[in-house]
Amino acid sequence: MKGRIELITGCMFSGKTTELIRRIQCDNQEHLVLKPFVDVRYNRDFITNHKGLCIPATNIENNIELFSVARSGSKNVYIDEIQFFDGNILEHVLDMAEHGINVIGCGLTYNSNHEPFKFANSDKDMHDYLRITNRYTHMFGKCGVCDSLSTHTQRLKHTDDIINFAGDDLYAPRCLEHYVKL
Ligand SMILES: [Zn+2]
Repeated sequence: MKGRIELITGCMFSGKTTELIRRIQCDNQEHLVLKPFVDVRYNRDFITNHKGLCIPATNIENNIELFSVARSGSKNVYIDEIQFFDGNILEHVLDMAEHGINVIGCGLTYNSNHEPFKFANSDKDMHDYLRITNRYTHMFGKCGVCDSLSTHTQRLKHTDDIINFAGDDLYAPRCLEHYVKL
């Protein structure tokens, strides 16, 4: 039997990591929690939401490592910040599903320019991941200006790097009306 491929997404501060943590805490089956090495915001060996709730996770430095870890017999594999992996992640996710593993990815579909988030060293982006999912959860936060549902990640000041791991001093949630592309 094939595994399913999921995505939990939303803009920054939409509660997607909180939803991922909730799912993991409810999971009584054999499972693995992975995160990319690049995301060292709060703690290397934990998945943490913006409110400080955290659970242990394995840091994955590259996709070869992901491949061997994911084949270690877990039924469910949770991957936080999936947009920070490189494009080969898609093949590995499909391979895991082919072997009956459920893959639950969590991450940003769009960057702060509201363009599909590109995987590292690749022409693939998060829309390519969306195309292979068969279950999709969209989370919404609150716009920092009007309290409507937030759909966009607003960059608050200009930086050279659109992929920045900083938190609420650089980014804020916005509705479409209050989103301004910097
Ligand atoms: Zn608004």
